[in-house]
Amino acid sequence: MTVAYVGLGSNLGDREALIGRAAALLGATRVSSIVETEPWGYVEQPKFLNAAAEVETALSARALLDRLLDVERSLGRERIGPRWGPRLIDLDLLVYGDETIDEPGLTVPHPEIVTRRFVLEPLAELAPSLEIPGFGTVSALLAGLQSSS
Ligand code: ATP
Ligand code: CA
Ligand code: CA
Repeated sequence: MTVAYVGLGSNLGDREALIGRAAALLGATRVSSIVETEPWGYVEQPKFLNAAAEVETALSARALLDRLLDVERSLGRERIGPRWGPRLIDLDLLVYGDETIDEPGLTVPHPEIVTRRFVLEPLAELAPSLEIPGFGTVSALLAGLQSSS
């Protein structure tokens, strides 16, 4: 089994329920608090709710990503409109054990973890001493972000 961390986001519909249902469908072992965050990348859209979940899985990283995309679809997400635009649910594979993966369609750790407070804060609640392979611990990354903003 591998311990993986998933970032959850929603800015359409019943955001809190969607995040809860996604976490349940993934069989998450732990889920962080949900935080409301300002839109990022494409700002003319509703605010997001964001959370992080811990998942213990027997799936490979690729199979887990496919599972995340399946859950997104099952909750009604359609891939239309701009990247970073509004969506019912967004599930990103943040960390998969100690693996570093860089393949077409799958980069792990998720490359934007280290720059996004709305990812690092929920992650820090679950696993402050977690090592993000190649980047350092969650708490150190969060401290770095705080001192530079
Ligand atoms: P961002 O990845 O910057 O948060 P996004 O979540 O809005 O942006 P999407 O449109 O949801 O981007 O995803 C685009 C593609 O990213 C997916 O089809 C998937 O193949 C790819 N991808 C690569 N690495 C990952 C990862 N670690 N987790 C989720 N998707 C990934
Ligand atoms: Ca995302
Ligand atoms: Ca995504």
